[in-house]
Amino acid sequence: MNSDFDAKWNELAEEVMTGMKEWRLQHPKATLREIERALDERLAKMRARMLQDAALASAAADIQASAEEERPVCPECAAKLEPRGKQERHITTLQNQVLQLERSYGVCPACSAGFFPPG
Ligand SMILES: [Zn+2]
Repeated sequence: MNSDFDAKWNELAEEVMTGMKEWRLQHPKATLREIERALDERLAKMRARMLQDAALASAAADIQASAEEERPVCPECAAKLEPRGKQERHITTLQNQVLQLERSYGVCPACSAGFFPPG
């Protein structure tokens, strides 16, 4: 894991806390439900950013970098995927935040299907 995360993630947490304090000042009569929603909204953004950063730090999904015998296989024909560089992948998280990840992409030499390996 990259240690740059420390500063970046502290900043994210700071944003959530400052944002929440400001929101509370602007909404002195908010109900518990409204406060919860405002907080969840901010936490979801932080969560997505942390997930994105942590996922990008994962070397496991890099086909090019993995040894040939460790390469992922095609789920249809079990042939080893051939690396095709990196492509942008959009993933929606459980809380509906969209992540943009640079992911290694592989193509099956047998059936030509293309995959983003899991990870
Ligand atoms: Zn295949």
